[in-house]
Parts: sequence; structure tokens; C-alpha cells
Amino acid sequence: MSFTAIIVAAGRGTRAGGSLPKQYRMLAGRTVLARTIDLFARNDAVRQIVVVIHPEDTALFDRLVRPALPDDPGRDIIVVAGGETRGFSVRAGLHASTGTRVLIHDAARPLCPPAVIERVVAALDHAPGAAPGLPVTDALWRGSAERVAQIQPRDGLFRAQTPQGFDRRALLRAYDSAPADAADDVAIARAAGLDVRIVEGAEDNLKITGPDDFARAEKLLRGAQVDIRVGNGFDVHRFGPGDAVMLCGVEVPHARGLQGHSDADVGMHAVTDAIYGALGQGDIGRHFPPSDPQWKGAASQIFLRHAVALATSQGFTFGNADCTLICEAPKIAPHAEAMRRKMAELMNIAPDRVSVKATTSERLGFTGREEGIAALATVALVQA
Ligand code: MG
Repeated sequence: MSFTAIIVAAGRGTRAGGSLPKQYRMLAGRTVLARTIDLFARNDAVRQIVVVIHPEDTALFDRLVRPALPDDPGRDIIVVAGGETRGFSVRAGLHASTGTRVLIHDAARPLCPPAVIERVVAALDHAPGAAPGLPVTDALWRGSAERVAQIQPRDGLFRAQTPQGFDRRALLRAYDSAPADAADDVAIARAAGLDVRIVEGAEDNLKITGPDDFARAEKLLRGAQVDIRVGNGFDVHRFGPGDAVMLCGVEVPHARGLQGHSDADVGMHAVTDAIYGALGQGDIGRHFPPSDPQWKGAASQIFLRHAVALATSQGFTFGNADCTLICEAPKIAPHAEAMRRKMAELMNIAPDRVSVKATTSERLGFTGREEGIAALATVALVQA
């Protein structure tokens, strides 16, 4: 059996807010309609996708949706013009379809789980029609003038979803004698006497109608696709006179000190730059210019705390941070645990998400000649 997915996207609905019809609005970086088309482009049973759009939306579709469509030579994606009513649009889609069976889906349901589509496809082997539904679990009332007028028994009631699947020829015949007030394709099929099976729908298969639905859909998508950012940082400071060096927030006694505009904490600078890098926010120098005298001798904790606050304000938490100090001396190992705890405290995360380690450069290069200390760091940020 060959399947055609008909995506009904001709509505002008702007109830969800914004100036564009909701199917052309962005949902977690892609238009609602591109996401909906993708649901069917990922299903092997579907060999053709017919998208029914409003005749005035051709330019919108070409600009916002077409570039995001999958390039699959084995599957046709056809765009046809719909009309004022849903029934007119579905009929246009049916006439453009070549599959023996059709799956008719609302463009405003971009999160339909693959299993729901599979269940509709499978049920069509046993009936000329099948559609997902969810049993009503809330109590139902009839009301008027903000008063409960009657309790409505909910036994045997379902909330209807899409895709609604049919034998294409049977549905076309049903449309020829369709009542004008039919709510959906199941209503038209039933009016023509077709048997329609109910398969299990899904709560995630929500229909985007109002502004709250966009927020809910974004949340569901974020759960499925975690936003992860990775940044790296590198820093060097030169040895100079002194009797201790500040490394990852811990003062380590040494025969020399580190020179720099601030306290020269090379490890903390590398981690801070890694955070700025992950956020695409430049580096320490951009936020705390060395030309500004107020940062002279500053505790580097100020820089790290600023970067951490910036990440938090953008909704990120830390996956982990890994810092490597490169020097011949002082010995880092005895202080590594204290450094790790200090860094974790400043970043508001558990110490097991922070690593501070050290290596020599085998007496090669500037670190090998003990002219200074280098540090590099990697940080992963995760959308909280
Ligand atoms: Mg530095």
C-alpha cells in the first residue's frame, strides 16, 4: 500500500499571536510547518507528501519552509493551493494525491509521535478509516452564563486528533456527499457510512492554537533536544618576582609570582574564557578591558562570577569544566583537590563536575624553561 500524507496548512490563524499564520512561526528554530512535514518525511510508509497552503502564502512557504525540507529523491513533496474551508483544502489535497491511502494531518500538530502515525497506518489494514483519539479523563460540564447547567457523562468520549487515515477513493466518494458542517474528515467518513477505527493518540500531539501552546511545544522539544554549548579557553602568564602563585583560586607557595594585570590566575582565566566562548561572548578582555585601571590587581573571581552569571541568565547550567595547568613547577597535584572545590564553589556546581589537572611540557618551550605557566580549559553548558 502506498501512503500520501496530506498536510492541511491553509488556515490564516493568528490566534497564537504574532503577525504570521501560526504554521509559519518559528518553534525552537524551525517553522511549525517544516516540523510537521518532517514527521511524515521520516515515515517509510509515506511516499508522497501533499502540503495544502493558502494561495496567498506561496512566497511565505518558499522563504520559510521550503529551504528546511529534507532532500529525498524517493519522496515527492507537492504544494497545492487550498481554500477558505478545511473541506475545500482537504479535497484539493485528495485530488493531488496518488497514494491508495491518505493520512490527513493538521499543520498545527508538529509534535505527533511517530508511534501514533504507525498506529493509524497499521489500523488501515483492518478498516477504511482510522484516527487517533484520547479518552476524556476530565469531568465534562455543560454550562451557560458561567454556571454549570448539567454534568455530561464522559464514558466513551474521546478527544479527536490527527493524522486521520483513509482509503483515498472511499474518502473522495464520501466528500462528494459531505455535509457542509462536518468538523473533520472522520465526520465526513462517518456520514458516508465508513467504519473508522480509534487508535491511541498522545498528549504530546497537541494542536497549537493559542500563545500558551507555543510555550508548551517549545518545552516538549527542549526536553527531547537538549541545547549543549562547548567552549575552550587558553591563557598564559609570565613568572616575576614573588613568593606565591594564584592558580584556580588557590594560593600556592612558590619561589616566584605570576605577572598580570589582575591576580594573574591563569587557570581561572582559561575557564572563564571557555564560558564566554561557549556563549559566543568574546573573552575576559572584552568584558574587563586591561586598559581600565579598576581591574588592576583584581581578584579573578570577579571575572569568573560574571561569566557564570551570564551563562545562568541565558538559561544555562554547567555540564562540566576541565582545566589543565601546564608548568614544571610548582607541583599542582597536592593542591588539585582544593582548586577543584574552589572552582566548583564559584560556579555553583558539584565538585565532581570540575576537573583540575596538570602536566609539564617535558622541559620544552617557555613552560619548560619555567618562564611562565599556561592553562587550557573546556567547559560544557547545558540548557537548564
Ligand atoms: Mg590571563
